[in-house]
Amino acid sequence: MKNSSNFRELDAQYVMPAFTRDMMITRGSGSLVWDSDGKEYIDCVAGIAVCSTGHCHPAVVKAICDQAHDLIHCSNLYYVPHQAELAKKLVEISGLEKAFFSNSGAEANDGALKLARVRTGRKKFVSFVHGFHGRTIGSLAVTHKPAIREPFEPLGLECSFVEYGDLGSLKKAVDDTTAAVLVEPVQGEAGVILPPPGFLEGVREVCDDHGTLMIADEVQTGMGRTGKWFAYQHSHVTPDIVTIAKGIASGFPMGALVARQGLEFQKSEHGSTFAGGPLACAAALATIGVIEEVLSSIPVKAERFRKGLSRHNPRVAGLLIGMTTGDRCVSIRDNCAGQGVLVNCAADGNLRLMPPLVISDREIDRVIEVVNEAIG
Ligand SMILES: *Cc1c(COP(=O)(O)O)cnc(C)c1O
Repeated sequence: MKNSSNFRELDAQYVMPAFTRDMMITRGSGSLVWDSDGKEYIDCVAGIAVCSTGHCHPAVVKAICDQAHDLIHCSNLYYVPHQAELAKKLVEISGLEKAFFSNSGAEANDGALKLARVRTGRKKFVSFVHGFHGRTIGSLAVTHKPAIREPFEPLGLECSFVEYGDLGSLKKAVDDTTAAVLVEPVQGEAGVILPPPGFLEGVREVCDDHGTLMIADEVQTGMGRTGKWFAYQHSHVTPDIVTIAKGIASGFPMGALVARQGLEFQKSEHGSTFAGGPLACAAALATIGVIEEVLSSIPVKAERFRKGLSRHNPRVAGLLIGMTTGDRCVSIRDNCAGQGVLVNCAADGNLRLMPPLVISDREIDRVIEVVNEAIG
């Protein structure tokens, strides 16, 4: 894939122009990727917090290849190899009771909304300003950003949005007809917005007062990203349902929801052709094995980033890091890419770093040097 390829022209002619992009990544190993010109980068985007174990981790590659030789797909009409084993792992690391699989984060959230509706018999939802929960019709209805939601209304799902961190407003918004409150323990797409102390405990209390379910959307923050398996584990509460995707299977598409005792889909209430397939489950189990080995190192790596980037007041949630850079975000991002470091601009001019959890100290130091220079 040297310069000879004409992927830009092909893309312009045949792919709907929903994304803005300018380069092709053709290879990855650990925290490094290479573009179609052979230029090397330290990847602090990691597929948007997806490539948790780094690119092409040998254990993940082996798990996928081995499974591909045995069975690629069989459907949920049959017991699926590795599926129950993975569900057991997710239950153990979450402190919840039973899992249901999906193929993406949005679908995991759709599943959680359905589960909340069918088990509470209630219709309404509450979520938070600047929150992001996905692009399907269901998950979009609980996603705040008007620019991506309003063109698709009506979405047929009643949701009110409350300022993130504002428990007073939450109390007013939730009543005995609210099925669930959907909350990100750290708002990722918003630019790594940290909850004020006691916020998740407060959400739990408001939910308990009204028999409302608390759904933690850990699609971005889960699977070790913040230094614990789930970001709610930094607080004193457990949600009724947690949704997971991005980092769960190192880039093999997968999502899941895990719910507490008594909250489960009954026969035929929900389903999916691909969800929890053999390849995805094999990739996820291998991914969890790798994360188990590096989990305790994440707070240390996070602290290295925090110190190195301290002059920019970084918001650090483990290896999910945001900095307010305003209008300069895109030029800073491009400047970093020029120096061989990939970073991302989240909403509202917030520079975001979400490197693989296996990133080395040497790589972290290089990222710090490049980002500091680019911000100036
Ligand atoms: C990315 C993300 C989603 C959507 O996940 P998809 O796999 O893109 O559907 C939902 N919630 C949060 C918090 C996310 O970061």
